[in-house]
Amino acid sequence: REGRNTWRLYSSDMEFHNNRRMTLETALRESLAQGEGIEAYYQPLFERDSGRLYSAEALMRWHHPQLGQVSPGEFIPLAESAGLILQLGQRLLDQVLQQLHDWLAAGLEPVPIAINLSPRQFWQHDLIDDIRTRLEAFAIPAELISFELTESTLLDRHQQAITALEALRDLGHRVAIDDFGTGYSSLSYLQDLPITTLKIDRTFIQALTEGNRRGSEAILAAVTGLAEGLDLQVVAEGVETHEQLDALARFPVQLIQGFLFGRPANAATFTTNWLIRRA
Ligand code: C2E
Ligand code: CA
Ligand code: CA
Repeated sequence: REGRNTWRLYSSDMEFHNNRRMTLETALRESLAQGEGIEAYYQPLFERDSGRLYSAEALMRWHHPQLGQVSPGEFIPLAESAGLILQLGQRLLDQVLQQLHDWLAAGLEPVPIAINLSPRQFWQHDLIDDIRTRLEAFAIPAELISFELTESTLLDRHQQAITALEALRDLGHRVAIDDFGTGYSSLSYLQDLPITTLKIDRTFIQALTEGNRRGSEAILAAVTGLAEGLDLQVVAEGVETHEQLDALARFPVQLIQGFLFGRPANAATFTTNWLIRRA
């Protein structure tokens, strides 16, 4: 009973949920304070036609001594709502910049690394200064860092989103719309955004061989046609099978990413499997 005319129902489910949430939040603060357990993994993206390594996406991994591995699907939304995402994101960006620095120092030719930005990160008031300062500190050129944002992040404040994206582009960064097709952006809205890349959500790739094939083909034709018209690069995300790759063959897709080609791997494994092999 919360007070006048207000009731709140509790269930053991909610209690479990709240406990888990509190446990994770405390643990995440702990890991951040100790500077341990947070690690960037790297998943390769390839040029479809040449098969060449093109870039990689940095994906955050969190391991806690008591809780073990927690998936980003769980701890990223939690970090967003608990006010920890900026700190986490800065930790990840610094780690990636250090890695790029190490690759360059070792005489390897690194590929650009894509960083995911969640809404709070993108809308932080000093985003541009923060990014520029960090890149300068590690002496990393902007072409080696790109960013990924979802449609929903960009939706609310259209004009401000355009301004922030322009600032990122002016610094020299590429910017992709992530999980494209799952949000609610209208097409005219897309036209105004100074982005470079569309990442087609993996549900559409899956549906090409499993779900309503004709429907998915129509969607893929429309999306890739649109991207072509707007001079945007297209990435097919979550390609898992040869069948899916074959089904993609007749669409203008430049880049592919997925378990079929390479899973996210820690820096050492990514270096051996992809960067050294390439050199
Ligand atoms: P996302 O940005 O869409 O990342 C792609 C996700 O799909 C990753 O999951 C990746 O491991 C997975 N994936 C890649 N290829 C395949 C495939 O062929 N099949 C399947 N089934 N999955 C594939 P992950 O690493 O669990 O990340 C989940 C989400 O967490 C990401 O989705 C992103 O939204 C968020 N995330 C991860 N790292 C960061 C980060 O550093 N910052 C922020 N803000 N969000 C992050
Ligand atoms: Ca992404
Ligand atoms: Ca995605």
